[in-house]
Amino acid sequence: MNLILLSPTDFAPGSLSSNSPLPSNTPEPAPIIARLEDRRFQHIAEVHRAQVGDTMKVGLINGDIGDGEVIERGERHITLKVSLHRSPPPGLPLTLLLALPRPKMLKRTIQHATALGVKKLYLINAYRVEKSYWQSPWLAEDKLREQCLLGLEQAVDTAMPQIELRKRFKPFVEDELPELARDSLKLVAHPVTTSACPIDIQQQTTLAVGPEGGFIPYEVEKLQEAGFESVHLGPRILRVETALPVLLSRLFPAS
Ligand code: SAM
Repeated sequence: MNLILLSPTDFAPGSLSSNSPLPSNTPEPAPIIARLEDRRFQHIAEVHRAQVGDTMKVGLINGDIGDGEVIERGERHITLKVSLHRSPPPGLPLTLLLALPRPKMLKRTIQHATALGVKKLYLINAYRVEKSYWQSPWLAEDKLREQCLLGLEQAVDTAMPQIELRKRFKPFVEDELPELARDSLKLVAHPVTTSACPIDIQQQTTLAVGPEGGFIPYEVEKLQEAGFESVHLGPRILRVETALPVLLSRLFPAS
């Protein structure tokens, strides 16, 4: 946990708005105070071993990043004086279409994608996605959010990704994708193709990544009809959770 992520409910009522800039003749704003009792308290107590007076990096979910000073440490809670003063890092100019991985890999892949700066993610169906994966409890909104929080904490970021589920491939590709991917570079990662994945592109991109068994030819054709170009990463076939960081660091090396 490289960043303690705070949500508005952690703050004393009304205190959060006091962090917004005030006119110069206004007296010093009241400090904003956050009280933590859950796994973040445990982490601060057991890993940071923080004492009163220590400071740590904190961020408000979908807000700024700053410092939290420990002003009180109880048996089951910790109180921080919070000052938020810098923006989170920019997200990638990317919409990621990811064929739904098996639940264990889904969790890791969501964490990696979030840590790498993905802000728009569509989990899509494909012929080789097992139907049972769509019943996974890990697809519940709160469970996906948990994985995103872990990725944000890891990468020192606060901007929550938006995740959408699309359980039918054909209607998604035919009816929704053209608008969604409009004016973007459209790529489908596919090992069996002649073009190598481009490097350091400076443009909005829509990237499709297949399931463990790969996209079937029909799906690659449908994506190509929608304007997607197939690109490879060399002769080694990588697991989805490995292919994704390789693709993103190749496409957006400086981000
Ligand atoms: N046998 C499958 C195939 O040939 O498509 C392998 C699928 S791979 C385990 C899962 C996904 O990761 C692929 O659909 C693709 O999107 C991506 N991937 C893995 N290795 C890749 C490579 N060398 N080039 C391009 N994409 C790759």
